[in-house]
Amino acid sequence: RFSSATAAEELITPAVQISYTQHLINGQFVDAASGKSFPTYDPRTGEVIAHIAEGDAEDINRAVSAARKAFDEGPWPKMTAYERSRILLRFADLVEKHNDELAALETWNNGKPYLQAAQSEVPMFVRLFHYYAGWADKIHGLTVPADGNYHVQTLHEPIGVAGQIIPWNFPLLMFAWKVGPALACGNTIVLKTAEQTPLTALYVAKLFHEAGLPPGVLNIVSGYGPTAGAALASHMDVDKIAFTGSTETGKVVLELAAKSNLKPVTLELGGKSPFIICEDAEIDHAVELAHFALFFNQGQCCCAGSRTFVHERVYDEFLEKAKARALRRVVGDPFKNGVEQGPQIDSEQFEKVLRYIRSGIESKATLECGGERIGSKGYFIQPTVFSNVQDDMLIAKDEIFGPVQSILKFKDIDEVIKRANATRYGLAAGVFTRSLETANTLTRGLRAGTVWVNCFDVFDAAIPFGGYKMSGIGREKGIYSLHNYLQVKAVVSPLKNPAW
Ligand code: NAD
Repeated sequence: RFSSATAAEELITPAVQISYTQHLINGQFVDAASGKSFPTYDPRTGEVIAHIAEGDAEDINRAVSAARKAFDEGPWPKMTAYERSRILLRFADLVEKHNDELAALETWNNGKPYLQAAQSEVPMFVRLFHYYAGWADKIHGLTVPADGNYHVQTLHEPIGVAGQIIPWNFPLLMFAWKVGPALACGNTIVLKTAEQTPLTALYVAKLFHEAGLPPGVLNIVSGYGPTAGAALASHMDVDKIAFTGSTETGKVVLELAAKSNLKPVTLELGGKSPFIICEDAEIDHAVELAHFALFFNQGQCCCAGSRTFVHERVYDEFLEKAKARALRRVVGDPFKNGVEQGPQIDSEQFEKVLRYIRSGIESKATLECGGERIGSKGYFIQPTVFSNVQDDMLIAKDEIFGPVQSILKFKDIDEVIKRANATRYGLAAGVFTRSLETANTLTRGLRAGTVWVNCFDVFDAAIPFGGYKMSGIGREKGIYSLHNYLQVKAVVSPLKNPAW
């Protein structure tokens, strides 16, 4: 039987109201040009919690004009880097003060455990803005020792108006990963939130203006992908587009960028990340980490360790313990203390995950536990474990994006490297071993943007993140993200005045 949240302690939730539902354009909250709005839901119940201004091409046009004017006329890109840095710091401090309301709003709209949002995600958001505030006045070019009598320097300039499209699984953190580096470099922004989770971005954008951000520098448009998102990706006056979401939509964004003004694109897309447990692993620890790697955030992580490869010698013990751990996972109202797993984001994702579970059963993987919805309201799914999973099954190939662990058996390191790499994705990987040699062989053999060794989901602001292959283009966080938002200008002049 599954652990139930009824025994869990009730959490005192901070009072939070939905204050902002309109677009934020040029420092003002405004209705959609069309006057239309769309509902946003509480995934615990499927009930509507607010109606949000629904943006489309005309709202994107207005937001891009505001961002263009703020970029071309200033003051943002023309301010001293130190002044920009101070605004980013003031903003981070304001967010810190509103930690609990923001976390509550995030949980209400997304369904993630409140304590995860309050103790981890909002603090990481703050840390990320501190990190990029620190970069703002340390971005500079080089002097280049070119042949001939020339003085050559490079200027690192902001790229201009950045379009940013974010998903619903980490609404606040995805905002931070995109907005932090773009603003530190002196760009202006039009950001489109995911239609499922529009609330927290509007809240923090309001705080940004309280911190002294000039109007037009950060514009937020809510709305759907094929309308507002596509208008942003194909806008002729947007100088760069950054996107996080599915590989399928990433391809559309790249195409829209190419067909319009060839704006540079960074993409952070899907994954099917291997988590490899070697024969020398300490099993209890490996079970806990593999469980966390997959089930964290309701399994809705692009880097989820969704193929758990276990060495044949420890397979049976691992399987028994992994199943027992999944059965102990506490699923319930994410506002309750002790709850580890809330609902999936919406009915579409909920149905999709259940379809994959059916596909696992039909393809003759062994359903060890779970497989059903919980309750009759909202989008709760039992933590599900499949064993005997084979590489060619759909559940081993596709991104499920839900609480479904697939366990596969392997014999030796060369074999597991080949199988782990036999995917169109390459976002992340986990390796669990006590041997330095095995760890080194695996970290070098795996084709993935991040390899976590004896840990998983470590997301420091300074650590770059991004994918090989169809998991994306470019890196976010760390120093690497700055390159996404800068142009390099070479300035060349003779060392002496030419004799005209
Ligand atoms: P999606 O990729 O369609 O949506 C992500 C963002 O892109 C949203 O803001 C959406 O409005 C926007 N978008 C959608 N169509 C667009 C278009 N034509 N032009 C421009 N923008 C567009 O993802 P989804 O439909 O919410 O989820 C589908 C699957 O994507 C999930 O099941 C999961 O596998 C994957 N996903 C991955 C991530 C990630 O972090 N890599 C996040 C969310 C979802």
